[in-house]
Amino acid sequence: MKIFIDGEFVDKEQAKISVFDHGLLYGDGVFEGIRAYNGRIFKLEEHVQRLFDSAKAILLNIPMTAEQLCDACVRCCALNNLHDGYLRLVVTRGVGSLGLNPESCAKPTVIIIADKIQLYSPEVYEKGMRIVTSSTRRVSPAVFSPAIKSLNYLNNILAKIEGQLAGAQEVLMLNEQGYVAECSGDNVFIVKNNVIFTPPIYAGALGGITRRVVIELLHQANMKVVEIQLTRYDVYTAEECFLTGTGAEIVPVVEVDGRTIGNGTPGVVTKSMMDAYRKLTASTGRRIF
Ligand code: PMP
Repeated sequence: MKIFIDGEFVDKEQAKISVFDHGLLYGDGVFEGIRAYNGRIFKLEEHVQRLFDSAKAILLNIPMTAEQLCDACVRCCALNNLHDGYLRLVVTRGVGSLGLNPESCAKPTVIIIADKIQLYSPEVYEKGMRIVTSSTRRVSPAVFSPAIKSLNYLNNILAKIEGQLAGAQEVLMLNEQGYVAECSGDNVFIVKNNVIFTPPIYAGALGGITRRVVIELLHQANMKVVEIQLTRYDVYTAEECFLTGTGAEIVPVVEVDGRTIGNGTPGVVTKSMMDAYRKLTASTGRRIF
């Protein structure tokens, strides 16, 4: 396996970063998770744009252009003969001295890993997932914007651990006010009376690229989408619930905090979106080969 690190492709065993890298010492950096399907990288430019936006928000200057990064992603997949898989793009503040000061880091470290991924079993997609609400609230925009896809994922990881302790594979995260924000690694949608609802990004969520794609697909199917603050009551009483994310794709949710959603099986809208998303990912994106 070849890994891109600071402008070069090296073997997996040689792909190492310094213990003085502030990405490791302080979680000072940003990342993206991108999928390749059928020899194409899905929404590559959108992911790279979000990476640049995240970097801008933390005053990190990525030492490559967006086009160079896109090309490096394509080359990384090609070198690894990856037709279907996952790209992890990471930019850290770089190697510096001990101490928070980012000025001690001379240049950011850029890493691209191309590998296989499977987050959940096929059964989860067929039968649906059980989730619980975590007591860990999603980090407030007043503290640090959840729209930044940064290397600080402890907020999400602590929530995920709570879910695992309760035997659930994902967790619903609320914002400080108690409204639904998102899940630990996915955005959330519900369906009620033929209307699809999802929390607005300002409720404290990452601006998911899959979320945006699904909203477009719903519009194309002439379905009404409303971005509005949601409570747990709205989720419990929904006819359908599903999650969206690059890694997870579209996951039907059939139980939330012990409440059965709809009839306890993946709903019609959810299944139609899973189907539409599968078709779109198989046929669009930047060609690798
Ligand atoms: N929310 C969080 C916290 C995430 O980490 C992710 C990405 N895994 C998402 C939502 C979904 O975003 P995307 O569809 O762009 O992968």
